[in-house]
Amino acid sequence: MTTDRRRSRSTASLLREAHRRLRRRYGPLGWWPAETPLEVCVGAVLTQNTSWAGVVRALGNLRAAGVLGDARAMLALPAPRLERLIRPSGYFRIKAKRLRALLQWIVDRGGGDPVAALRGDPASLRGDLLRVHGVGRETADSILLYAGGHPVFVVDAYTRRILGRHGWADPRADYDALRALFEASLPRDPALWNHFHAEIVVAGKERCRPRPRCEGCPLEPMLPRGGPRTLPTASAAGARRFGSSRPRGEAAGQARPPSR
Ligand code: SF4
Repeated sequence: MTTDRRRSRSTASLLREAHRRLRRRYGPLGWWPAETPLEVCVGAVLTQNTSWAGVVRALGNLRAAGVLGDARAMLALPAPRLERLIRPSGYFRIKAKRLRALLQWIVDRGGGDPVAALRGDPASLRGDLLRVHGVGRETADSILLYAGGHPVFVVDAYTRRILGRHGWADPRADYDALRALFEASLPRDPALWNHFHAEIVVAGKERCRPRPRCEGCPLEPMLPRGGPRTLPTASAAGARRFGSSRPRGEAAGQARPPSR
């Protein structure tokens, strides 16, 4: 067995243990925080580079305007009105353009029904989604997993932080390499991947903050000797690019992750 294979086998078992520990601590989390697949898609765009609290306000505005359940109606809104409604989520002009592009994709591909739009081979759907303006890898994967029920693991800044602090992977690694690491390590079960990502976000928000709160953390027994590793600054900087993930809620002081 090569050293790489040994290491990857060992990382797989560590990730499975991390999931078991997080699951035991947090129980069922019921993600994604949305009532419908369309709401997942809208939330996945609005949550880029912002706290979930702002997204909740923006979703509330769209709901009050009577368009959150109807992709065509949302798309038909004049741009300035859509911008006003989603303003609480920040970067509202950029996000309005991105949201309209995604809604157009849902209308073109599924007649306005995201479930129909997301039917098919996940790899090919992912390629299609990544061609939509403003849809990056984390957004595409969130939509595929949480709106489409496809077996795709979502990697975010909390994932990188936890992997890096425990020495399980280089937190600066390419998004798809980290995604593949999780997907190869866990049974191919969208429900499990759904839950594991949610657990990582909860642990990240509660514990694995810029200054880690390891004492009492469900992953504390899995720390390397000497405590959490120092993260390379590049991994933090990479998470700040617009459209890529960053630990949501920290900027706005949101203590709890979005959950329902
Ligand atoms: S807070 Fe500490 S123990 Fe918990 S995930 Fe982060 S580094 Fe690990």
